[in-house]
Amino acid sequence: MAENNSINTAFSAGTDKTRALASLQKWTKERELKQGARPLAFVHSYGCQQNVSDGEKIKNMLSSAGYAFTDEPEKAQLILLNTCAVRENAEDRVFGNIGDLKKLKEQRRDLVIGICGCMAQEKHVAEKIKESYKQVDLVFGTFAYGEIYEMLWKVISEGRRVFNQDDTCTEIDEDMKQLREDKLRAFVPVMYGCNNFCTYCIVPYVRGRERSRKPEAVISEVSGLVEQGYKEITLLGQNVNSYAYGFPELLRAINEIPGKFRIRFMSSHPKDATKELIDAILECEKVCTHLHLPVQAGSDRILKKMNRSYTVEKYMSIIDYARSKRPDFSFTTDLIVGFPGESYEEFCQTKDIIKRVGYNNIYSFVYSRRSGTPAAKMEDSISDKQKGLWLRELLLEQREITSARFAKFLGKEKEVLIEGPGRTGSDYLTGKTDENIIVEVRADKKYIGQFTRVRIVKTMNWALEGEVIE
Ligand code: SF4
Repeated sequence: MAENNSINTAFSAGTDKTRALASLQKWTKERELKQGARPLAFVHSYGCQQNVSDGEKIKNMLSSAGYAFTDEPEKAQLILLNTCAVRENAEDRVFGNIGDLKKLKEQRRDLVIGICGCMAQEKHVAEKIKESYKQVDLVFGTFAYGEIYEMLWKVISEGRRVFNQDDTCTEIDEDMKQLREDKLRAFVPVMYGCNNFCTYCIVPYVRGRERSRKPEAVISEVSGLVEQGYKEITLLGQNVNSYAYGFPELLRAINEIPGKFRIRFMSSHPKDATKELIDAILECEKVCTHLHLPVQAGSDRILKKMNRSYTVEKYMSIIDYARSKRPDFSFTTDLIVGFPGESYEEFCQTKDIIKRVGYNNIYSFVYSRRSGTPAAKMEDSISDKQKGLWLRELLLEQREITSARFAKFLGKEKEVLIEGPGRTGSDYLTGKTDENIIVEVRADKKYIGQFTRVRIVKTMNWALEGEVIE
């Protein structure tokens, strides 16, 4: 295929978009008449909830263009991998998957293969795909979702490869809706991008500066979802605490929406977490009393090297305030093990902080070098093997903490939102408490989608077990 790098100048928004959509609709209709079914798209999103939410928007646009969806890439006429750039091994996996698709492309020349999302926004990744992965037709980053019709139509109608890593379009397109597969829980982005530039993180480079949606747009979307029967709304942003129109106010306004539903949110940067945020969580009965507050490290020196802009004491002051108001306030966190230059003593401070806070759970990873970030240039003398051993040590420590915290739930009554089939056995269902703890319940399927009172009768490493209170 020939290459096209000037897609942004080739199309001006609006009419070109409408024309491209009409062309795609006509094309998919003709395909449908010929093959007896709508052409199929396989869309897979890797990584965080924000990416999953973007994937849902892409699917909605493809559905409007006339595509149906499949979980089997072999059956698809369009394969789109919506990628994540946070960790190196995730990127390696995507390159592996692209390699595997070469055979499919050789068998079916009309198959369109596209790579989008955070990895595709990185110029060196786009360059590598352009040079070495000729089976890929379309590569577009996180700023270009709104141009999908034009780009796709260019590939289909002209047989050209399209690369779009432009990052100048920073407007939020409120017309881009999501095609939600989950009918119970919905992700609602409140802001995009990040201004923080933590030294290990690629996000500000691939998702740009912070842009907040207007509160009216968020409130109207949540109201619509609640009317449709959604029971759990998770507000998303890289750092919801710097939401431009005031995050505690937004929580209060959403809490006023009539109906029985839960409100969660993520992520929350500790440098911007305030007592007012904690007050809002506690005042609003629909907001879960659980805060995911990524601490990343337990040493002030390492936090400084990470450019996190808070100290352990500032972090603990938020935890202590919340617990002074509600002793069972629940916290989870993210941790990086083996940041460049971290000593064993400093790693032990990370172990200290998980004991001090008493997290219900932690999401911990060995530091992953991301080229293009300041940390990638920092001296790093600890081997990956050693870091792996530290991570194990941390997880063992957390296992004790989780088990002590879970033990406190034994015999208690909890309200659980039952989500679907359980993992413990075929007669089990699974759901979550307000604290975001998994509860497995032996119960009839009629409880799926319902807030259900259960008594906690058992604890496991990863979950609680409960019985329905009739
Ligand atoms: S707050 Fe830091 S870690 Fe989070 S997305 Fe922004 S730069 Fe990355």
